[in-house]
Amino acid sequence: MSTDLIIHTQSVVKTYNTGKVIVPALRGVDLDIFRGEMVAIMGPSGCGKTTLLNTLSGLDEIDSGLIEIDGRNLSKMDDKTRTRYRAENMGFVFQFYNLLPVLTAAENVEMPLLLSEKKVSAKEARRRAQEALEAVGLSTQANQLPGELSGGQQQRVTIARALVNAPAIVWADEPTGDLDSQTSQDIMDLMRRLNQENNQTFVIVTHSPEIGAQADRIIWMRDGRIEDNPAAVAGALPADLLVRTPLDVQASPLKLQPSF
Ligand code: ADP
Ligand code: MG
Repeated sequence: MSTDLIIHTQSVVKTYNTGKVIVPALRGVDLDIFRGEMVAIMGPSGCGKTTLLNTLSGLDEIDSGLIEIDGRNLSKMDDKTRTRYRAENMGFVFQFYNLLPVLTAAENVEMPLLLSEKKVSAKEARRRAQEALEAVGLSTQANQLPGELSGGQQQRVTIARALVNAPAIVWADEPTGDLDSQTSQDIMDLMRRLNQENNQTFVIVTHSPEIGAQADRIIWMRDGRIEDNPAAVAGALPADLLVRTPLDVQASPLKLQPSF
C-alpha cells in the first residue's frame, strides 16, 4: 500500500480543564492515515472523536505528543500561517461550521477562496463555487439563502464549501447526522466520488454503521484511545463491520467499486 502518510500522530494527549472537572479526552493517540484514504472514526459518545478531529485539523491545541499533517507540525506555525494553511489545504464539514444565513449558497461556498492567500478574482471564485454546487447537485439553488433550503441541501452546501478549494484533507464530523437515509447516502456517494477522482483524504466521524461500512477503514476509539480490538468497542454492531479491522486493512487494502 501507499507509504504516503498524510496524517501521523504519536502519543497525542489532550485534557480539558473546566475549572471544576478535568476530562482526559485524548489519552495517547497513535494514528497513521494515508493520502487518498477514506476513513471512518467510530466509537461511543464521549470517547474523543470530535476532540481528535479538532486537534488533528489544528482547530484546537494538544497538551503533549506529535501531530504531523503532510509532514508539517501545525502547532509550530504562527496563527496566521496556520489559518492560511488550513484554509488552503483542509475542508470542514462540521455541524458548528454553519452557513452564514445572510449569504446565498454560492456566496457561502466562495468563502474559503476569499480567505485564501492565493489570489482568486471574484469572477473566478464565483465560477468555482458554481462548479462545486453543481457537483453536489445544487446548481439551480446557487442564489438561494440557507433558510430557503432543506436540511439535506444545506449540508450539501457545506460540503461544496469544504471542497471548493480541492483540499488535500476533508474533515467531517457526523456529516449525515440529521439527514434521512437517502440524503445520507447521496452525500456519502458524493464524498466517495471526490475521494476517487481527486485522491483527497476523507476523515469522517460517524455513529452510523452504514456509513462506517462504506469507508476504506474504520478507526475505533474508546476512552480517548485508538482501540486495536474493535470487537471490544463495537459490541452490538453487525458482525460484517468487524470483518475489517485496521490490521486487516493494512495488510490488504479494500478494493472499492465506484459508488456512482
Ligand atoms: P465524542 O465526539 O466522541 O462524543 P468528544 O471529543 O466530544 O467525544 O468529548 C470527549 C470528552 O471530552 C467527553 O468526556 C466530553 O464531555 C469532553 N469534552 C469535550 N469538549 C469539551 C470542552 N470544551 N470542555 C470540557 N470537556 C469537553
Ligand atoms: Mg462528537
